[in-house]
Amino acid sequence: MKIVVASGNKAKLREIAQIFRGHEILSMQDAGFTEDIEENGATFEENALIKARAVSRALGVNALADDSGICVEALDGAPGVYSARFCGRHGDDAANNALMLEKLKNVPQNQRRAYFESCVALCLSDGREITASGRTYGRILEQEEGEGGFGYDPLFYSDELGMSFGVASAEQKNAVSHRGKALAALAEKIKGIEL
Ligand code: IMP
Repeated sequence: MKIVVASGNKAKLREIAQIFRGHEILSMQDAGFTEDIEENGATFEENALIKARAVSRALGVNALADDSGICVEALDGAPGVYSARFCGRHGDDAANNALMLEKLKNVPQNQRRAYFESCVALCLSDGREITASGRTYGRILEQEEGEGGFGYDPLFYSDELGMSFGVASAEQKNAVSHRGKALAALAEKIKGIEL
């Protein structure tokens, strides 16, 4: 299936293309979509649907969006849907990570539990909408480990991998990540429907 990914985040696009092999994946730029989309939903699912719907309707294509973030127990689930702009500016990974370390400065290791969540939404050109979500659990490290991935990856120690997402290879991360799980669940749902 030909799918336009409704995201300006190149790292996410790369992960989605790796995980959703077998589909023809196009970026918004490839597809000629240049408008800004206002993500004003209260949940990952609402935001994923807002993004995928906007691109699908504007271009009449199948569009896929991921909305994701990190939820930290000691911060009552924050930054959640605000993960990309935790520090006040959108997409400043270094400042977001610095603020995360600052907020958890005196929090002991056993109280640094966190999970990543991803909701993916596929809006088909005929108007049908399918969503799926995934989570991956771990804890926030006391300092960054590794330089791989993006966003909070160097601060996230994955329970499943036994290492930080910053140290993990792309294949290792994709096998256990929130986005990997959400896309696998979406792929299962798509199998059962007529496209
Ligand atoms: P979105 O583009 O509005 O969904 O924002 C997602 C934000 O959550 C990103 O900018 C990152 O800060 C964070 N995030 C989501 N998924 C990941 C991941 O796989 N690794 C690290 N950070 C992530």
